[in-house]
Amino acid sequence: MKKREKRIAGNLLAGLACAALAHSALADDAADARALIKKAQGTDLGWQTVESLTTEIGPRLAGSEAEARARAWAVKRLKALGFANVHVEPFTLEGWHRGEISVRVGAPYPQRLVATALGRSVGTPVGGITAPVVRFTTLKDLKDAPIGSLKGKIAFVDEIMTRTQEGMGYGVAVQKRAAGPSIAAERGALALIIRSAGTDYHRNAHTGALRYDDAQPRIPAAALSNNDADQLARLLALKPDIPLTLNMSSKRIGQVPSGNVVGEIPGSDYPDEVVLLGAHLDSWDEGTGAIDDGTGVAIVTTAAKLVAEHGQPKRTIRVVLFGAEEPGLIGAKAYVKAHKDEMGKIIMVSESDFGTGRVWRMNTGIAKEDEAKADAILHVLRPLGVLPGKREASGGSDVSVLSAAGAPAVSFTQNGWTYFDLHHTPDDTLDKVNKDDLNQNIAVYAAFAWMAANAQGGFHPPAHPSSEE
Ligand SMILES: [Zn+2]
Repeated sequence: MKKREKRIAGNLLAGLACAALAHSALADDAADARALIKKAQGTDLGWQTVESLTTEIGPRLAGSEAEARARAWAVKRLKALGFANVHVEPFTLEGWHRGEISVRVGAPYPQRLVATALGRSVGTPVGGITAPVVRFTTLKDLKDAPIGSLKGKIAFVDEIMTRTQEGMGYGVAVQKRAAGPSIAAERGALALIIRSAGTDYHRNAHTGALRYDDAQPRIPAAALSNNDADQLARLLALKPDIPLTLNMSSKRIGQVPSGNVVGEIPGSDYPDEVVLLGAHLDSWDEGTGAIDDGTGVAIVTTAAKLVAEHGQPKRTIRVVLFGAEEPGLIGAKAYVKAHKDEMGKIIMVSESDFGTGRVWRMNTGIAKEDEAKADAILHVLRPLGVLPGKREASGGSDVSVLSAAGAPAVSFTQNGWTYFDLHHTPDDTLDKVNKDDLNQNIAVYAAFAWMAANAQGGFHPPAHPSSEE
């Protein structure tokens, strides 16, 4: 061989050896991930975590004393599990007090309806608001009502939520809850009543945050159970001018403390590069926050702990248990603000915040050149029933703020057929958690976290930010 040919052959051999090394490293990572899956399927730790949180703390309203106790619980637990760098990153938010609610229909059919105040709503004057009701079948019909046309009336948006496998009916239904109050106020309404953004018929009302538009007066807003929304529609058909009395003592209570709880499994080779697993510590106050989001806390914490038991990942795995997700991703926004200089080092985000419905699809919001690495993860997850998904992902609730700020993301779609029967209701309790399904989620996150933290070259953001959620 001539000298030049020799050099080319040498380079080729070196390249092949490099590829072979990378290939065998990937094969090792996949074997490790399969071992993690097996371990996750038999673990009790996830169940114990959600049991402990929902029993010892119970409901954890953002900014409340209970949410503070949940932070102390999380710090103690993460330390006990051997996480490093365990700490709280504090922030504040405008607090809210639920108070009491009563909704009554007047003569000639007097009766009480089951309702809950929408999160962050103002209350009524003492003694309540009594007024006739104007019913709208959809939020669009309310929007189409002329400005000022609801003066002296209570608006009722009776739009149903559609049950779907991945829960996408919520994206439509939640609009009447979030934006409805200010749309009704702009049309002159004294208050807004909505049919719950939920799919059950358990005579439970679903709470959840509203979002006032600063340009409109703040009017009180509440949700009726699906059964009671049907009932009110029938009563209005019998007597269109029947009066309704809404009495609510909800109020905003000024700035209150909250915080994000962080714990890490430090990386061996690139400790400053981070795979971030999220869940949220706060919950609404109607149930004990088991599926929203006690199970998410259990899933990501247990997955990271199983990884640490198995071996040290090359990059750091950081668990962030966000505070104040429910009132509007307030903990996540505080996190991005505090970590903006570090954003380029966060090579992957994903959040578990959808109960324990089994993971059935993996969506990726990453650079095109990294897709083969994500496909290698998917290949390991296939026996758990995970299908390839879309090439866009926000990563989930809180971490969508991080992916919007440029972090690569993976979203695991879960079976959501029954999730919105329980979501934000008194029925969100530990007995709804299925341990096998919980462990399937833990298995997915453990294998994913391991392979993402070890992936050669890491992950990079997609050319265009995700529009997934
Ligand atoms: Zn949640």
